[in-house]
Amino acid sequence: MNNQQEETKAIRNQTNRTEQREHSTPLFMTSSFVFDSAEHARALFADEIKGNVYSRYSNPNVDEFVAKICDMEKAQSGVATASGMSAIFSSLAALLEQGDHVLACRSLFGSSHQILSGILPKWGIDFSYGNIDNPEKWESRIEDNTKVLFLETPSNPGLDLIDLEWAGKLADAHNLILIVDNCFATPYLQKPMEYGADVVLHSATKFIDGQGRGIGGIAVGKERYLEEISFFCRHSGPALSPFNAWMFSKSLETLPARMDRHCNNALALASSLEDHPNVDWVKYPHLESHPQYNLAKKQMKKGGGVVSFNISGGYEAAKQFLDKLNTLSLSANLGDSRTIATHPASTTHSSLTEEERAAVNITSGMIRIAVGLEGKDDILEDVHQALN
Ligand SMILES: *Cc1c(COP(=O)(O)O)cnc(C)c1O
Repeated sequence: MNNQQEETKAIRNQTNRTEQREHSTPLFMTSSFVFDSAEHARALFADEIKGNVYSRYSNPNVDEFVAKICDMEKAQSGVATASGMSAIFSSLAALLEQGDHVLACRSLFGSSHQILSGILPKWGIDFSYGNIDNPEKWESRIEDNTKVLFLETPSNPGLDLIDLEWAGKLADAHNLILIVDNCFATPYLQKPMEYGADVVLHSATKFIDGQGRGIGGIAVGKERYLEEISFFCRHSGPALSPFNAWMFSKSLETLPARMDRHCNNALALASSLEDHPNVDWVKYPHLESHPQYNLAKKQMKKGGGVVSFNISGGYEAAKQFLDKLNTLSLSANLGDSRTIATHPASTTHSSLTEEERAAVNITSGMIRIAVGLEGKDDILEDVHQALN
């Protein structure tokens, strides 16, 4: 790690050149690596020297991607995985054992909720939720066997925040491992390790790829935890493909520039919706009207690429809005260069009950816009014509 600016390191940190003198890191699409001699092979397997053996363990493209994210997140170590979900599952499975308990925020990503409620209980691992709007009650939910505090901020799609400094202190006071899913904010906008996070998780599928092409994930953090997560991944095998790692590494070169533009477009869209007669409320972390604006300014460099708002008239009005959009895509993804509109209650969060949705502030008229990189005026124009 050197003291260059973050934008410079995102571009310049890369694998050492090969004898071909390439300017941009080539793709190492190989499942295994050759040994110079029988003795070389023995020494590699005995861990006496470092080097590539097999791409489920290590690969130059995957290692480059991990090194770049570790640098951005100020993490000591990391492991890349085939999806965001495999990073989340592997981290929890590696760090927890039978009889342990997880305290998590209720507004977790849907599949994370499924892991806590439908998979980990099979191995005797229990969980409970804290609501995002009453953090003062969380402490009373910590049990003797609570081992992990698992958070996501900002929340999807409600865009509520959890105070990372508060969470870091809570975890510290109770000896909990603080795990933060930082996918929404990206390592450029928010660095949970600065507030005491032990492990930071990403779905690389979203803003890290940035162009809606590939699935991938990564866990980074403190060495003592990553050692266990890496061991779990090496042997259980959710390895990231070298091709996707190569693609994500290229994408990281433009992450700061893209995020600046995602955020500027999103802030412009959110501001333009504030006084709209057909909009009940609009939520965006760096909008002054956000109830946690000061916290958002403190822990997020910019407000992120997602805007949520509620259309007056509920589901019927929301359907009409979506069907009138011309330029925007109807899709369930986010973090794409193309702006995407989603109706969470009928799609991404439809498996929740009405009460569960209400507990995380997902209303029937709520629209989530994952603001892309198109011209700002065209995004605003399309949203406003569909609203009117
Ligand atoms: C998409 C997403 C995930 C899951 O990532 P995949 O790459 O789809 O497996 C996890 N957490 C958050 C916050 C996400 O948005």
